[in-house]
Amino acid sequence: MKKEKYDVVVVGAGPAGSVTANTAAERGLDVLLIERNPEIGVPVKCAEAVSKEIERFVEIDPRWVCAVFKGTITYGPDGTKVILSAEDAEEAGYVLERKLFDKFLAQEAARAGVEVRVKTQAYGLVCEDGCAKGVYARTADEDIHFFADVVVGADGVESRVGRRGGIDTTLRLADVATCAQFLMCDIEFNRDYCEIFFGHDTAPKGYAWIFPKGEDCANVGVGIGGDVSDVNHRAYDYLNAFVQNKFPDGEIIAEMYGAVPLSGPVYETVANGLVLVGDAARHVNPITGGGILEAMQGGEIAGDVIAKAVHEKNFSQRRLKEYEKRWRKEFGKILDAGLKTRNIVLKLSNQDLNRFFHSLAGGIRIKEFSERALLKEMIKKDPRMLISLARMMF
Ligand SMILES: Cc1cc2nc3c(=O)[nH]c(=O)nc-3n(C[C@H](O)[C@H](O)[C@H](O)COP(=O)(O)OP(=O)(O)OC[C@H]3O[C@@H](n4cnc5c(N)ncnc54)[C@H](O)[C@@H]3O)c2cc1C
Repeated sequence: MKKEKYDVVVVGAGPAGSVTANTAAERGLDVLLIERNPEIGVPVKCAEAVSKEIERFVEIDPRWVCAVFKGTITYGPDGTKVILSAEDAEEAGYVLERKLFDKFLAQEAARAGVEVRVKTQAYGLVCEDGCAKGVYARTADEDIHFFADVVVGADGVESRVGRRGGIDTTLRLADVATCAQFLMCDIEFNRDYCEIFFGHDTAPKGYAWIFPKGEDCANVGVGIGGDVSDVNHRAYDYLNAFVQNKFPDGEIIAEMYGAVPLSGPVYETVANGLVLVGDAARHVNPITGGGILEAMQGGEIAGDVIAKAVHEKNFSQRRLKEYEKRWRKEFGKILDAGLKTRNIVLKLSNQDLNRFFHSLAGGIRIKEFSERALLKEMIKKDPRMLISLARMMF
């Protein structure tokens, strides 16, 4: 079997993997990025919306932006509408073209010196003395051992790298949203806002969405709790009902199915010689299901810490813990708050949800359009709201 050696091998070329690889290569490391699919960014499993916070990580390029939105309009089960928008900006965020965006991030990594290999699937972890030392991978033609000082699991929601390295990444059905989405065209909708619909009949333990994708096209989707999905009540069935109601004459250009981990972060995101980033680390906001920005932010931190560890020749879990400390400081609190809020919202009946929406009716304007600012503003608007919701439940 062929053997190759790198400083770092990154499994998975989504946003988390490409940004980690790029950051480590910029700091002088020899990095390999492997992707099992033949084309990076395909198939897309995403509704593709991000807040303007993305500008902290990349310069916006119109080639991979399909639409700009001013905020979100969220509807309660009885149709009560809450508009969220940014106070100081016309634009609150972007709907991306992920198949181009993910390629762009991988290209940036390649330009920084990363070796990128598609059609290369990791199927095992090389371990010695309780330390990850590389991955076993398969290409179309051969099996290869990629040895590395540090292995990065950026292999998304289905991640196996972490489990093989002894990290508990188990997801209960209740911790996963199962989703179906159509790219629809020739439809009438609000092009300026991302629209979100709550209600047990529309999307039990989840929500439905309409995100503008430019002109008369939109991502129209439904995500439901994995534990309430069954043979006649799949996300696909709810989506068909939603579409029948909203866009009976629209055209479906593409279908997509996927899962979002909503458990909150795994307990430990590092082991000896091993780091998990992005969905593999469950770095997804449990209330919104968004994980693109967390994947990029975590990737930057991971790449930086791994570079220091390699330069110091210390790949121990203890050394790599700096990554864990830093991501917890940067976005751990917002994920924790998202999980708590989700646990409360999940227990609300349609009636409770309506009451919740009535208390916010009139809309919320936040200084900058981010999850952090939104939570703060909601508590400011009615400080007792979340507390009383919690009381209502327990
Ligand atoms: C329906 C849906 C809608 C969503 N909408 C949004 C949204 O609007 N906004 C938002 O911010 N987030 C959204 N998300 C979440 C977002 O897509 C993820 O959080 C984000 O893609 C995480 O990036 P990642 O790099 O960690 O993982 P991914 O983007 O999943 O990338 C992982 C990569 O690893 C590869 N891989 C897996 N196993 C192996 C292996 N063994 N060997 C080699 N390669 C491997 C995969 O092929 C994949 O390319 C949505 C998710 C879903 C499912």
